Amino acid sequence: VPEGHTIHRLALDHARILVGDVLRVSSPQGRHPVLAATLDGQRLEDVAAVGKHLFYTWAAAPVLHIHLGLIGRLRESPPGVPATPNIQLRLAGPRATADLIGATTCELLGPEAHAAILDRLGPDVLAPDADPDRAFQRLQRRSIPIAQALLDQQVLSGIGNVYRAEALFVTGIHPLRPANSLTRAEFDRLWDTLRAMLQQGVVDRRIVTVDPDERGADLEGVFYVYKQGRCRRCGGEIRSWQLGPRRAYACEVCQT
Ligand SMILES: [Zn+2]
Repeated sequence: VPEGHTIHRLALDHARILVGDVLRVSSPQGRHPVLAATLDGQRLEDVAAVGKHLFYTWAAAPVLHIHLGLIGRLRESPPGVPATPNIQLRLAGPRATADLIGATTCELLGPEAHAAILDRLGPDVLAPDADPDRAFQRLQRRSIPIAQALLDQQVLSGIGNVYRAEALFVTGIHPLRPANSLTRAEFDRLWDTLRAMLQQGVVDRRIVTVDPDERGADLEGVFYVYKQGRCRRCGGEIRSWQLGPRRAYACEVCQT
């Protein structure tokens, strides 16, 4: 499941290889003929990531809004690669091609609809100007478990299941604690931890949360608690709970 770091990485990549060019836009799968015709031949001016949302702005067309959902992906290939019928939307420029596959949202937005989505989203931990106060205030109004609140994109945007489990472990906060029981100091540590983890993810292009001196050479699936059996620090058993649609993980010794 793409978390915020993947979306920000995609925005950076697409800004580098597509922005500034006139793009050929098509829908090989046939799902978005009108959208493709509207954008075809337009110059792409900017790509922005907010939480798990991508927004493409054009010289003279509405904003393209993409949300990958649980299984969607954007594949990059060199110009001229033949299209396959599973491609929902193809953005083809002189330097590169980006193919959208299996996304939940692919739509055009007028200025009001665009503003409404941005307004609804909680602060994005990866945004340079993100306002942690707004996220803290929103947490203060919720008595649901902190782990559940962290996945609520109206509280904080960009966090997925792996980062929430790992950041709560690193900060020693139990996932089932009510969101409004966190002190400001605890919240600030959590915010800084999430921000550092996701920033690292943008650089690494994958999720690495365990400190170098606590892990071996193999980085695949190395986490503190996410899908782990034993705690890397105290050796205790990692417990997990179904919490809403996703599982939460914790070490009952290290997280209180
Ligand atoms: Zn432990």
